[in-house]
Amino acid sequence: MSWQTEFKDALRTNEDLEQFFEKTFPKTQYPLFIPKTFAEKIKIHGPNSPLWKQFIPHNDEVENKSGRYDPIGDITHSKGNQLIHRYQNRVLFTPTTICPVLCRYCFRKNELAEKDEVFNQNFAEAKNYLRANPQINEVIFTGGDPLILSNEKLAGFIQDFAELESIKYIRFHSRTPIILPSRIDEGLLAVLISAKEMFTRSMLMIHVNHGDELDAEIVEAIKLLTDAGIEVFSQTVLLKGVNDSTEILAELFSRLADISVKPYYLHPPDEALGAMHFYMSLEAGRRIVQPLHDLLPGWALPQYVIDIPGGEGKIPALNPESFVFSGTLINRQGLPIKV
Ligand code: SF4
Repeated sequence: MSWQTEFKDALRTNEDLEQFFEKTFPKTQYPLFIPKTFAEKIKIHGPNSPLWKQFIPHNDEVENKSGRYDPIGDITHSKGNQLIHRYQNRVLFTPTTICPVLCRYCFRKNELAEKDEVFNQNFAEAKNYLRANPQINEVIFTGGDPLILSNEKLAGFIQDFAELESIKYIRFHSRTPIILPSRIDEGLLAVLISAKEMFTRSMLMIHVNHGDELDAEIVEAIKLLTDAGIEVFSQTVLLKGVNDSTEILAELFSRLADISVKPYYLHPPDEALGAMHFYMSLEAGRRIVQPLHDLLPGWALPQYVIDIPGGEGKIPALNPESFVFSGTLINRQGLPIKV
């Protein structure tokens, strides 16, 4: 089955979900999307599994009213042209609001559900912004999920960015290889190889949270990428009830490292409205993450970083006190911030 057919043949409503799983589920205000091929895997793993908890709607999405609409300040740093400019040298580029699956814990779930201004399309304006800010040397495709775009569309954006001399690095953040491995076809490999040739470095950052996501089919798809010379990194979100144990994380990171994926980021859960049932304190997270240093070599250990609520960017999550001076939290420029 082609990835486009898999994508079209997805569960999109509560009725679809209830028919497929033969159970009832809470109705939430958030959209729902699970390709049936992936829903089959969820069904096999069952209701207490990490797969189920990440993608099946939960009562708390409706009942728990705490959390922030935009926990990491995308809107504050949005330039209104699909660019989010938070750090001096790099921008996030959001070419789509579409994802291969809708993750119940997503920190961008409110923005995506509302199709917020962060996703306003104005590509000419985005290119003008990059021309006017030549200190920006990296574009990070995020979303939504950029690998859900057609090869032609993706290649077009890549070509456009390559025409800007200031852009040296290009990065793609994606959950697609885990959810729709059939997307890693020859056409996509050709696009990613051409990106490698057009920029000084080009990287794919896959989003993966639990070893159960790395079945034989997914490992095969990732091998297609690494065999083609694509640099593959990973990012993981620490989620209560899903992967909140040292052993689970150690297994995930060592398996990723064994298939030539560099574990790059581990994020504490964000305080996202509608996803607070996945939230855990920094202190609880530290107790889980610190022992990883005893179990894994540095090259298999991701950086454990937290996005400061409000949009001030990432700081080390194991020791955020290193950013506290005289009782005040400071940002990367050394300026005091309110959280
Ligand atoms: S694929 Fe990424 S952007 Fe899309 S819902 Fe999941 S976490 Fe959010």
